[in-house]
Amino acid sequence: MPTRRTTRGTDRTPLTGDVDVLICGASFAGLAVARELAGTGARVLMLDRYDIGERQTSACGIPTAWLRAMGLMGSQRQTFGRLVVHTPHRTARLELPWTFSTFDYPQLCSLLAERSDAQFETAKVSGRTGNTVHTDRGDLTARVVVDALGWRRVLGGGGSTHPDRPGARGSAYQPPDAPLSRGLEVHPWGAGEEMEIWIDRRYVPAGYGWSFPAGDELRIGVGSFDPRFHVKDTTVMLAEDLRRDPVRYQGNWIPHRLRDATEDGVFFVGDSAGHCLPLTAEGIRTAFYFGIACGRELRAVVEGNLSVAQALVRYGDFSASHGWKFNALLRAQQLVPRVAPQLLAQGLRAMQSRRFLDWSFGHYLAIAPPEFVAAGPPPAVRRSHARAVAA
Ligand SMILES: Cc1cc2nc3c(=O)[nH]c(=O)nc-3n(C[C@H](O)[C@H](O)[C@H](O)COP(=O)(O)OP(=O)(O)OC[C@H]3O[C@@H](n4cnc5c(N)ncnc54)[C@H](O)[C@@H]3O)c2cc1C
Repeated sequence: MPTRRTTRGTDRTPLTGDVDVLICGASFAGLAVARELAGTGARVLMLDRYDIGERQTSACGIPTAWLRAMGLMGSQRQTFGRLVVHTPHRTARLELPWTFSTFDYPQLCSLLAERSDAQFETAKVSGRTGNTVHTDRGDLTARVVVDALGWRRVLGGGGSTHPDRPGARGSAYQPPDAPLSRGLEVHPWGAGEEMEIWIDRRYVPAGYGWSFPAGDELRIGVGSFDPRFHVKDTTVMLAEDLRRDPVRYQGNWIPHRLRDATEDGVFFVGDSAGHCLPLTAEGIRTAFYFGIACGRELRAVVEGNLSVAQALVRYGDFSASHGWKFNALLRAQQLVPRVAPQLLAQGLRAMQSRRFLDWSFGHYLAIAPPEFVAAGPPPAVRRSHARAVAA
């Protein structure tokens, strides 16, 4: 488990002032936005309540092609060419058309941070008034504010969490009423060969269990699409069924519905915009994907090629254009738990066909394809660059 390096007590000095871009949250989404702004000369400040890479927020599984495209292979722990799916009546080995990898969270975050030239400070964000963000170290104002703070969407509409500023904006999106899944995992030491999932009501009525090996540790967990179902006991049960110690816990809420990616002048990226895929709870590559998209718009803003208002519209439209894909996965998420276990076993048999695997996993990857990383800056930037070259 990561050690605590976050500044405390007297090290927590006052932090005030103004910057061009304020990125709140320095995990997958925030770091991806910052990466796109590297070299622009803009004053970019990234905030997080913990030091970068200090608190792992997931099982850290991602399509390998995304790690490669982002230049993050240095953090890779293990790679899998197939997915083993267990149901009460059948175990299927699905040979994937592309590989999946687990990675080391602190290493990945530090590699990503190296690719940005943003300044970083630890501070807890509690809300905002207009473009002024309130933190436990003081107020910060920015031309552009990005919320990459995860599912709480701290800078969105609703009531403030700041004790002195009840009128300020802040998130009121709370489980169990909000469309959130819950996930919990343990990280016992040990090795494994297979990436495995369990669709089994013994562990969770709606959701799945998993075991992702990552070098010298396993990430074993249970995710429930129903926020009211507590996953602690069954996470322990799955670990014990696998003869592993239920130690080193890590868990969080996982959004499973797309939300507006812009609101009241703020850009929302990653879990704060519901960018996690509903059926699979895969939210890292989508945090990268939408983070890059947002960062490209902001790059055009700081380089003078777009206004903030134009960037808000473009990024909001880009995110919303993925709505039908997220909705299709949400419908599947709602359908799978209703399928009788025997039928599920039959369905799995059909899913093993090469044609079906290529088709379904190909479409799944295409929701946020790794080629997007190399796709380049937005058209507005390319146009202005062409003008500059012509001049
Ligand atoms: C148990 C579990 C396992 C998962 N496994 C996978 C997986 O294997 N693959 C996958 O693709 N997805 C997985 N997910 C989903 C994935 O973790 C999220 O979708 C992803 O982390 C979203 O990235 P993000 O940057 O938007 O948010 P986060 O990773 O949640 O980052 C938010 C950042 O904001 C900071 N922050 C939050 N509040 C404040 C505040 N008030 N002030 C300052 N800083 C703050 C946090 O410290 C954090 O650094 C898993 C989720 C869970 C719960």
